[in-house]
Amino acid sequence: MRVFSGSLATETNTFGPMPTGLASFRDRGYFPAGQHPEQLTLFSGPLCAARIRGKEAGWTLIEGMTAGAQPSGTTTRHAYETLRDELLADLRAALPVDMVLLGMHGAMVADGYDDCEGDLIERVRAIVGPDVVIGGELDPHNHLTPAMVDNTDVLIAFKEYPHTDVLERGLEVVDICAATVAKKIKPVHAVVDCGMIVTMHTSRQPARGFVDRIQSLEGKDGVLSISVSHGFAWGDVPEMGTKVIVYTDGDQAKADALARQLADELIGLREALSVNYPSIDDSLDQALAFDGGPVVLADGADNPGGGAAGDSTFILRRMLERGIGNAAVGPMWDPVAVRIAFDAGVGARLMLRVGGKISPLSGEPLDLDCTVKALVRDMVMTGLANTPTALGDCALIETQGIEIVLITLRNQAMGTDVFTGLGCDLAARKIIVVKSSQHFYASFSKVAKHVIYAGAPGAVTIDLKTLPYRKVRRPKWPLDA
Ligand SMILES: [Zn+2]
Repeated sequence: MRVFSGSLATETNTFGPMPTGLASFRDRGYFPAGQHPEQLTLFSGPLCAARIRGKEAGWTLIEGMTAGAQPSGTTTRHAYETLRDELLADLRAALPVDMVLLGMHGAMVADGYDDCEGDLIERVRAIVGPDVVIGGELDPHNHLTPAMVDNTDVLIAFKEYPHTDVLERGLEVVDICAATVAKKIKPVHAVVDCGMIVTMHTSRQPARGFVDRIQSLEGKDGVLSISVSHGFAWGDVPEMGTKVIVYTDGDQAKADALARQLADELIGLREALSVNYPSIDDSLDQALAFDGGPVVLADGADNPGGGAAGDSTFILRRMLERGIGNAAVGPMWDPVAVRIAFDAGVGARLMLRVGGKISPLSGEPLDLDCTVKALVRDMVMTGLANTPTALGDCALIETQGIEIVLITLRNQAMGTDVFTGLGCDLAARKIIVVKSSQHFYASFSKVAKHVIYAGAPGAVTIDLKTLPYRKVRRPKWPLDA
């Protein structure tokens, strides 16, 4: 069997302050055909899964381009079309193939393309024809569109948030596609739009129980796969929202009924799924009042993983104004401050302008009388599913008892080594502020005694009613009653 795999992935915050260009892909991960490393990346689940299964089964695996960018604002037309056309050229060169496996995010938006994945998949289908099996892996923060679903045989999203199951879901995509090629199964699908946009933290109930339940339904009674698209609220496209997709083995009525039933269950849980976001001062008060520590404060509104700059100062400013010390904050994306810190050297005390540089959504910069505590070149953080994540040159600075991690390559806090790699003793800190919505949880929950999801301003604001939506299909809970 001849199998082709490639990836093109980013999550687009259409309200984000910076465009996503080719450099954004090179920073995160851009590998021309045949050059993806051995190690799994967040966007290469199907490729890495196909390597495993292909070796066992003796397939010829043709590895096309894989590219993934840190989420940011609207992708430039040039970046999208350049990478898309490279991937499609790789596919044409690989023909004939029996199976195409795509790694995607599912919420990529470019100039002139509200549905990049739908566009990409339609072109893949046109190239390979109706009989070749096409499967794809998605991030659950996707906009599941008819163009994506109707032109593939199976799409499977990560079930976990934090997304720790990249390889597991990739293996499922590959196995279902292989069984389809072998004509052992015939996947049919049903999609139900829940008419809402919710957050599903699988680290806690009720999302945990819901995911466990759908997983228990898979692989029996003809149910092949069930995925929940949480949706991505910061993408202003018509198809934004929470959806359920069910694949059964040839039983359309069963797929329809189960998708409807699960969507109704999810709709019933929507209030319970909602996250409580206390204000910055309330979050700090709660953290200080907590007996012991460390307490992790998640600054999700400035999460680079949702397209924010990662340099906002709103929480840090209040900590400084209130004289709150014994804290760690990071990572803040500030290549200029890192450059100056490297020039100053470890042990130097200097005035350094930190953060607040990218847009008003980052707040005002802070001018800090600080000490350079540590400097590390080309630091790598342990990302989700143990994927290595490059942070570039990094600095640890300290001011008023607060240690701040500054990074050169924009990223959210995923592994605690983003702090400990610079010698910051997290266990001894009372408060740890992380730039992350939820992915921090997989690693930081091991050191945290308590977690608070803080409600701060930013490009990934949780106050969705303040976002100037123009394209999203309404009504949509909780934007509308
Ligand atoms: Zn996601």
